[in-house]
Amino acid sequence: MAQSRHTKVLIIGSGPAGYTAAVYASRAMLQPILVQGMEPGGQLTTTTEVENWPGDTEVQGPDLMVRMESHAREMGAEIIMDLITDLDLQKRPFTAKGDSGTVYTADAVILATGARAKWLGLPTEERFKGFGVSACATCDGFFYRGQEIVVVGGGNTAVEEALFLTNFASKVTLVHRRDELRAEKILQDRLMKHPKIETLWFHEVDEVVGTDSPLGVEGVRVKHVTTGEITQIPCKGLFIAIGHAPASELVKDQLDLHHGGYVQVEPGSTRTSIPGVFAAGDLTDHVYRQAVTSAGMGCMAALDAERWLAEND
Ligand code: FAD
Ligand code: NAP
Repeated sequence: MAQSRHTKVLIIGSGPAGYTAAVYASRAMLQPILVQGMEPGGQLTTTTEVENWPGDTEVQGPDLMVRMESHAREMGAEIIMDLITDLDLQKRPFTAKGDSGTVYTADAVILATGARAKWLGLPTEERFKGFGVSACATCDGFFYRGQEIVVVGGGNTAVEEALFLTNFASKVTLVHRRDELRAEKILQDRLMKHPKIETLWFHEVDEVVGTDSPLGVEGVRVKHVTTGEITQIPCKGLFIAIGHAPASELVKDQLDLHHGGYVQVEPGSTRTSIPGVFAAGDLTDHVYRQAVTSAGMGCMAALDAERWLAEND
């Protein structure tokens, strides 16, 4: 029989925003339930060194997230491994259905579902996903020891992934559609100085080339963005690092969204278009998208929820 759980505050998501909201909501004696989703710990579990988390000159992303989880548990949050598949925000108490069969009802909801990797959308990319095509260097880099690798993108993620992949690869080619990177200058300097990394400007991936049996990548065909000239780069691994899109599927027909799917909040707060529903982190933020800003918004969401519950009890 399906289990039913009621909580004052349901937190959906276990990245920096969700765990920080859980710490604050627990300390406000709201006994929150936090549902972790498919990626316990969120995006930082897919990276290695984090060098801009205040208080740690360098910390491993997965370690930081384990610490945040223990902190939330220690404060009294109940942390549940489940995936919310359906969320009804139209009537109170709000109802969320878990993949486990559990039905969660809540007086207030904090949405912290973050963002997910974007893909190029090529049929050949789809065909080789998991067989040479990846969006996570920390997860899959090890499989390409001594091989050539191509990384696509020009932001922090692409540059960090390219640098990290030099630990395994014989050569890394960074393919970018412009000749200017978005990545922080310190990362750009490391990239440009690295003897194993080559950059290919003004190119986009046109097709992933590989074999059927065994299924695997042999190279990528890239196209010059103005001349259309096609070049093939031999490689065994293709890492797509072209950004992230907000994970707002659960609420897309219920809440006001902006900038292509980010949940809109009232300026200076985490209040969404439905009273009692709050949003924090990358789910709402198309500008900063950092661990520390997400954690800050998680704190705001818990404080906003606490005040709203006190006024509406
Ligand atoms: P996320 O970390 O995206 O977490 C979202 C959570 O929601 C996940 O736990 C997921 O399981 C859960 N979820 C989603 N859907 C559901 C659902 N239906 N039900 C239940 N749970 C759900 N930032 C920095 O400040 N410094 C860095 O060095 C840095 N490095 C990065 C390296 C990489 C490779 C990447 C991809 C990002 C990096 N970032 C870095 C950005 C940082 O990771 C994000 O800004 C931050 O993780 C966003 O936190 P969040 O809590 O909003 O969401
Ligand atoms: P991003 O900053 O949005 O950069 C995405 C890159 O991919 C851009 O260079 C973009 O090109 C390119 N791109 C987008 N769509 C493309 C397509 N269809 N084909 C080819 N190229 C495409 O994304 P991100 O690097 O994943 O970073 C996301 C957020 O996480 C950022 O806020 C970032 O600061 C943060 N982050 C921080 C750290 C850190 O602090 N060390 C590390 C990783 C991520 P254009 O430049 O031409 O638009």
